[in-house]
Amino acid sequence: MTRVINFSAGPAALPEEVLRQAADEMLDWHGSGQSVMEMSHRGKEFIGIAEAAEADLRELMAIPANYKVLFLQGGATLQFEMVPINLLAGKGTADYVYTGEWAKKAIKEAKAFCQVNVVASSEDKAFTYAPAQSSWKSSKDAAYLHYTANETIGGVEFQWVPDSGSVPLVCDMSSNILSRPVDVSKYGLIYAGAQKNIGPAGLCIVIVRDDLIGKAVPTPPAMLDYKIHAENDSMFNTPPTYSIYIAGLVFQWLKRQGGLAAIEQKNIAKAKLLYDFLDASSYYKNPVAKADRSRMNVPFTLRDAAQDEDFLKGAKARGMVQLKGHRSVGGMRASIYNATSIAGVQTLVDYMAEFEKNHG
Ligand code: PMP
Repeated sequence: MTRVINFSAGPAALPEEVLRQAADEMLDWHGSGQSVMEMSHRGKEFIGIAEAAEADLRELMAIPANYKVLFLQGGATLQFEMVPINLLAGKGTADYVYTGEWAKKAIKEAKAFCQVNVVASSEDKAFTYAPAQSSWKSSKDAAYLHYTANETIGGVEFQWVPDSGSVPLVCDMSSNILSRPVDVSKYGLIYAGAQKNIGPAGLCIVIVRDDLIGKAVPTPPAMLDYKIHAENDSMFNTPPTYSIYIAGLVFQWLKRQGGLAAIEQKNIAKAKLLYDFLDASSYYKNPVAKADRSRMNVPFTLRDAAQDEDFLKGAKARGMVQLKGHRSVGGMRASIYNATSIAGVQTLVDYMAEFEKNHG
C-alpha cells in the first residue's frame, strides 16, 4: 500500500494513526460486535463516544464552562445562515469583515436576514491581506461582528484576534481550528466545518456562549435553532455519528501530539519551510502580505502558467496530489493542515526546487 502526500484543501488528509485505529475498530468497536456506523445514537456505546469527543475538544481548546459545544450538520455553509438567524436577536445590523471568497459567501447569506455592514475589505488588493483593525468602520448597533480567521482559498490568516468590545465576536474557523491555541472567551461563537483539521465532512462544530442561545426572533425552525440543539445535546435528530467518532479519534491524536501549543510549533515550522523557499525563489510567488500569510493554505504561482500542468504531473509522479489552486485564483495551493508532516512539506519543497532548476 502506498499513501499519497495529500495537499487537499478539504476534505483533507487525516492522521494515518487515526485511520489505522478506525480500520482496526471497523467491524467490532471495543468488543461491542458492531461498527460505530451501525450503532444507535441513543445507545450507551455511542453516547460514550460523543461525550468523550466533546470532553477532549473542551480540554484541547480550554473551552470555558459557559460555552456549549454543538455537533451539527449542513457544513460551515449552514452557519452562514444559522448565525444571523440566531444571533440577530431583533437587531437589524451585523458587522462583517470582507477578506475573500469565504467571507463573501457569509456576507451574501447574512444579507437575506439583516443589513450587513462591511467594516473593512481587502478587495482593493485582491484579498491578499487582513485589514488592520484601526481602519475598521464598525456600526453603532451591530448584533455581532463576523470574520473569517483563515481564508482557505486566498491563503490569508488573521494572526491576531479582533477586539469587538461588547459586541459578540463570531468567527468562521473552518480551516484553522485546532491548528493553534485560541482564547475561546474572546468569542461569542466559533464555527468550523470538520473536513480540514477535525475529521470527515458531514460534521460542523459550533462553540457558542450560553447567553447567545435562545434569543432568536422570530423563533427559528427547530433544526436551525441553537437552543434546540443545545437542549438535546446535539441529538435532536440523528447526528453524523461516524464523523463524530473519527473527530473524537483526531482529538485523542492531538492530545498525544502534546495539544495545540505543540501542534502550533509544528505548523509554524512547516509553513516557514515552504514560505522561506518561496521567498528565496524568483520562479515561484506567493501574493499574500507576509504578516497575514496562512499557516494552513499556501497558494503560489509559477512564473509561467503554461508550466502548471507539467508541475502537477511531476508532483503526482512523486506521490503528491491536490496541488492545483482554486479555480478562482489559479496557480497552485498547498494545504498543510495538522495531519501533514514536515517530511511531506520537505518532499514538496525538494520537488519545487528540482522543477525550478529544470524549467526556471
Ligand atoms: N468557510 C471556510 C473558511 C471554508 O474553507 C469552507 C469550505 N472549504 C466553508 C466555509 C464551507 O464549508 P462547507 O463546505 O463545509 O459548508
